[in-house]
Amino acid sequence: MNTENIIQKLNELKGASQKLDIQEPERLEMMKSVMDYANQFIGSLNTAKAFNEKEATSLEITNQKKSLPDLLDLYQKQVAETGINAASGKHLGYIPGGGVFTAALADFIAAVTNPYASVHYASPGAATIENEVVNWLKTVFSFPENSVGCLSSGGSISTLIAFTAARDKHKVKNEFITKNVVYLSEQVHHSTQKALRIIGLEDVIIRYVPLDENHKIKTDSLEELIQKDIAAGLQPFLVVATAGTTDTGAVDPLNEIAAIAKKYKTWFHVDAAYGGFFIMTSKKELFKGIENADSIIIDPHKGLFLPYGVGAVLIKDSTAVLQSNYYTANYMQDGASEEMLKSPANISPELTKHFRGFRVWLPLQIHGIEPFIACLEEKLLLVHYFRSKLAELGFCLGPEPDLSVSYFWYPFDSYSDKKNRRLMDEIHADGSVFLSSSIINKSFVIRIAILAFRTKKEIIDEAIEMITTCLKKVNSEIE
Ligand SMILES: *Cc1c(COP(=O)(O)O)cnc(C)c1O
Repeated sequence: MNTENIIQKLNELKGASQKLDIQEPERLEMMKSVMDYANQFIGSLNTAKAFNEKEATSLEITNQKKSLPDLLDLYQKQVAETGINAASGKHLGYIPGGGVFTAALADFIAAVTNPYASVHYASPGAATIENEVVNWLKTVFSFPENSVGCLSSGGSISTLIAFTAARDKHKVKNEFITKNVVYLSEQVHHSTQKALRIIGLEDVIIRYVPLDENHKIKTDSLEELIQKDIAAGLQPFLVVATAGTTDTGAVDPLNEIAAIAKKYKTWFHVDAAYGGFFIMTSKKELFKGIENADSIIIDPHKGLFLPYGVGAVLIKDSTAVLQSNYYTANYMQDGASEEMLKSPANISPELTKHFRGFRVWLPLQIHGIEPFIACLEEKLLLVHYFRSKLAELGFCLGPEPDLSVSYFWYPFDSYSDKKNRRLMDEIHADGSVFLSSSIINKSFVIRIAILAFRTKKEIIDEAIEMITTCLKKVNSEIE
């Protein structure tokens, strides 16, 4: 190709390629479509179902162009109206959150401006925002200033980062792996075992520590297990406690576990993915000792009600974290002189990543922390309100909850497990409010997790009404 041909070809390509760079009039029109859609979606949350047992279809990518309004319509039918409506206050299953609107605005700006948040040199502002969010979390959990942390996509990746640091600090590798012991509760989130497997520690010895009647780790049993392992020549390596288990919301006795972990020089990790932010509420006392952990994980996409895709990890030993994640490459040499800890990439396996700090930072700056705390206190009270209503209906209740998760079952005269399953099916088929189930002490139970910021008393009343109707239906069925 000679230069003239190249210029001609470039002119042709420009016409086609610049369609990606949408101009202002069309931008305004598109923004209006999106805003209208968002308003209509939020406006209908009160009447929309929390759960639709429906498959999603018609979402394949073809090369047939479609208009944004048509695509938003498709999105509403095939995405928003299938499965769990996670933005709804009627989502009372698994661990909800909701997705505050100001975080969506932050995501929009982050995507438009697209700063390179993982390297301080590339975007001092974005990296500093990420670091300021981590600093704020350190104050919330009374972690020392010289601890390190980063924002991740969620609790699972945060756990990976924490365990990798623990592994590298304790040099758990090669033939030593099978001599190292990890102490877990049966109620630990499955992302814990998954993380161990992913980082090459599937062959460590796992001890499940017995739990008390409130599903909390028995600390005397923990210490006995550790002593036995030491006597057998094994190496106690990691103790995992949970501040708010997913199944029952129990907070393990963190302070006592911290003392045991310290005594035997094991890494102490606290999974506070669900429960962490309740430390800012009247439940603060339950979290005593969390500041003595070597690492903790917290999910702002749960307890701060942010949209899915933002977790956090705090780790005391910065050397261990850097050892796992720090790396320099020649093409990054211009940034290599920056202090390592200013760049999120040195704390995390991620390099190029979503600028997720902004969706935490902006809501906190706009709203202040008070409405978040009020929301958490509200959830704590709502679970008590819900339980008192269930008791009036004759349901059996799990133990008094530490936080905002609880479980219950109906004492049917016969086939209790089977009928509670039927009750769950009816609740799912109704779908106006979404609850989930679990197996606790080998029995089927229905679980409620109140954490969505839009969950209010009226919604709990609606849930009670729905449960009453579903119970009548199950009771009227012939065995
Ligand atoms: C949700 C949860 C996790 C996993 O976090 P993701 O953000 O879903 O990856 C881990 N532990 C607990 C206690 C949780 O509630």
